Amino acid sequence: MVTAAAATVGGSMEFGMTRSVSAVEEGIMGVARSLSLEVGGKSKFLRNVRTMRFLLALIMSAIVAMVAVSRLKLLVDPWFSSHHETQQPPLQQLLMSSLSSSNPLSNPPLLTHAGVATGHNSAKNHLSSTELKLVPSPVVAANRPQFLSSIVDSTCTSRGQQEMYRDSAHQFPRSGLLDQALEEYTRMHSHCALYDGDGSSDVKTECRYLVYLEGYEGLGNRLLSLVSAFAYAMVTKRALVIDARRGHLAALLCEPFQDSSWLLPPGFVDEVWGAPNLEDAMHRGFQNVSAVRINLRHEQTRADQRFFCAATQQEGLQNVTWIGWESNQYYVPRLFMIPSFWSLLSPWFPDPSLVFTQLTRFLCLPQNQIWARIQRIHESYLASSMMQIGLQVRRNLNADNATLAESVQELIMNCSLKHHLLPRPVTHNEEPVVVVQQQQLKPPPDTGAKSSSSSRTSAAVLVTSLHMQYYEKLRNLYLEHGTEDGTVVSVHMMSHDGVESDSYEQAVKALMEIWLLSFSNKLATSSWSTFGYVAQGLGGLHPVIFNFLALDLDDHTGPACWLGQSSEPCLHYPFVKQLECGNVPMSKQQSNWIATHIRPCQDEKYGLQLCSGLH
Ligand code: GDP
Repeated sequence: MVTAAAATVGGSMEFGMTRSVSAVEEGIMGVARSLSLEVGGKSKFLRNVRTMRFLLALIMSAIVAMVAVSRLKLLVDPWFSSHHETQQPPLQQLLMSSLSSSNPLSNPPLLTHAGVATGHNSAKNHLSSTELKLVPSPVVAANRPQFLSSIVDSTCTSRGQQEMYRDSAHQFPRSGLLDQALEEYTRMHSHCALYDGDGSSDVKTECRYLVYLEGYEGLGNRLLSLVSAFAYAMVTKRALVIDARRGHLAALLCEPFQDSSWLLPPGFVDEVWGAPNLEDAMHRGFQNVSAVRINLRHEQTRADQRFFCAATQQEGLQNVTWIGWESNQYYVPRLFMIPSFWSLLSPWFPDPSLVFTQLTRFLCLPQNQIWARIQRIHESYLASSMMQIGLQVRRNLNADNATLAESVQELIMNCSLKHHLLPRPVTHNEEPVVVVQQQQLKPPPDTGAKSSSSSRTSAAVLVTSLHMQYYEKLRNLYLEHGTEDGTVVSVHMMSHDGVESDSYEQAVKALMEIWLLSFSNKLATSSWSTFGYVAQGLGGLHPVIFNFLALDLDDHTGPACWLGQSSEPCLHYPFVKQLECGNVPMSKQQSNWIATHIRPCQDEKYGLQLCSGLH
């Protein structure tokens, strides 16, 4: 895409320059001619003319070359600088500008609460068309990397800057069809914007809404549910709004839609809270039903599950104005099983292993003050290393207690070494003299990691966990032993709260750590952890999955770890078998697609996961 953009701009520029060069040449030659005639004869005139022509050609080629190089550099620089550590300035400038900003929120103390804890941030985050300047010319815009097109969105700096922190192997441009669908969706959202009035008089008759009702689970569950709700809202053309009276997401995330807020105004909240559930609505044949509350949490009745029947969608819910969405799961794989949804979704996502990646990078962007903290931590602790490795340690059972710490640590090391995640520590007592070969200084070719001017290979390991012990053990290991290949390893942890809480402060830290993990070149996550799913999905990373669940269940039949088949989250409770829909017509094409792209999860055999189908 960059090449195409450069060629287009270069081509038209060259054409323009040729014309203006001729005009200037004409002018100068005219002056030269009259000067020569004044000074002497014909041959002298010709010699002068030839010399002038030669000089002129030289000057003009130099000008053309300089302009071309500077134009090309403008286009290429942001890519270039994000891929090569030696080109530090853009990131540093970015950071410096955020540090030197007069905005007190731009420089909050590390990992303390500097945000707005309430959901009433619509004024602050509302993207007005004047603030959001997405105005490159259509030709250039079509050829530009997507993240450049929104880089001036000052209300949500993470939107434009996020890709600068990802290596080239993990920048996944959206398909043209998805871009178009998002643009259309954004327009529809703006058309259907709800204003803080006294009730339904503000609802346009052609508009329908999906109200995301935030649950009380951890951040990972909430984000999986939010992204699923958005996918459903896109295929059903419903404006996604969130009820900010409960939960944290409204205070954590940017407003995603240009020109309209996603916050449900208070005048409308009763529409959904008092609404019947799906079973009641079906009993009434959806007659006079303007709102339905959908339960897609992990415990569902058979009636709840009929949400996934094509008939329920087409004959029932299609005409309901308000849908309340309650869930703690990632239901996108099930949406692909509904024929009318599949025919919309599958062209948007030519690689189905990137559905979550692309939707989250659009929808779940940290607000500015949180983003500034993410940037600062990344720059202070991680950015200078050639390789960044994320380790997410989460034990769902045993409430993360320390009783199995040794076996957990053993599993982490064995799996990390087996899958070449961590450099092998020296095991014997005496530290060998490390001879650093020139070859070793290059980053591994398949990871997209940065090159470095330092004389040793370096790796920064970010450990995230509620408990400090995993970080301490790893840090001590590398401090005491060094590595066989001479890699210098630094180990970091940002927080260790000990216990899970529903506080806003912990949610901020969790969001920051999820984002930091997602910038890794390599990642390990924990089986069954939705926190890990969001990090891997956001990063588009196939993680090494630590099977702590088997360890906690004392189950020795399964593997200690897997190399992830996809970066997509696992849907733990698909409830496919129990579903009674009657004869759902599904084309052969769709069945083939499902057979290729939807697989059992590695960490949950009854679960479902979207995959590219290539492996
Ligand atoms: P899951 O329980 O592993 O599926 O992940 P969730 O994100 O849904 O819930 C776990 C919650 O515990 C998170 O939202 C955090 O509040 C907290 N938590 C768990 N692990 C970590 C961690 O490594 N870092 C931080 N900051 N919080 C964590």
